[in-house]
Amino acid sequence: MSFTVAIDGPAAAGKGTISKAVAQRFGFAHLDTGLLYRAVGARVAEGEEPVAAAQSLNTKDLARQDLRTQAVADAASNVATNQQVREALVEFQRDFAAKEGGAVLDGRDIGTVICPDADVKLFVTARAEVRAKRRWEELCSAGGDADYDTVLAEVKARDTRDEGRKDAPMRRADDAVLLDTSDLTIEEAIARAVAAIEQARGQGAG
Ligand code: C5P
Repeated sequence: MSFTVAIDGPAAAGKGTISKAVAQRFGFAHLDTGLLYRAVGARVAEGEEPVAAAQSLNTKDLARQDLRTQAVADAASNVATNQQVREALVEFQRDFAAKEGGAVLDGRDIGTVICPDADVKLFVTARAEVRAKRRWEELCSAGGDADYDTVLAEVKARDTRDEGRKDAPMRRADDAVLLDTSDLTIEEAIARAVAAIEQARGQGAG
């Protein structure tokens, strides 16, 4: 039986951590859909045409070690405004969502466009300043000498682009549970997501 959990929200709100934790907890498969756009962005930065890159994306692209950089994040958010790029990635995501045994997909448009009938939808967010601080701490602990104001500006610029694009903009689906992690620990945020999924599973069984 399939059971789909759609988790959307802006960068560094905690949706990746929450998605991994709930996938593990319930034994669901997990797809970080941002990786698809990052992989396309990385290939475009190397000179490929965006739509051709999206149409020929393969598992090797997703395993690239350089997909987590800020440059690739920006390239991803740029190619993500291209409607044909988005269309080329729809089928893969929907097939993944229909996996036997359940699936968690995290991204920006999962609850609104990719899986509008998902069994559970969460919109995970946090104040921009909190998200920038988390990202800045990550960069510093990885040995970089990041500047907080620059990171904050990048976070805000990506939000504006993701919310403002014409095709599949980032927004909370009407039936998504809002989970603001600004003042929550990771454990508290995960517990709330687990509770929302358990409630939906209970309803399904009843
Ligand atoms: O989640 P992540 O930061 O890896 O996503 C990188 C970029 O990919 C986002 O800023 C967004 O522009 C794009 N994206 C998207 N739709 C998704 C997932 C990611 O447009 N479902």
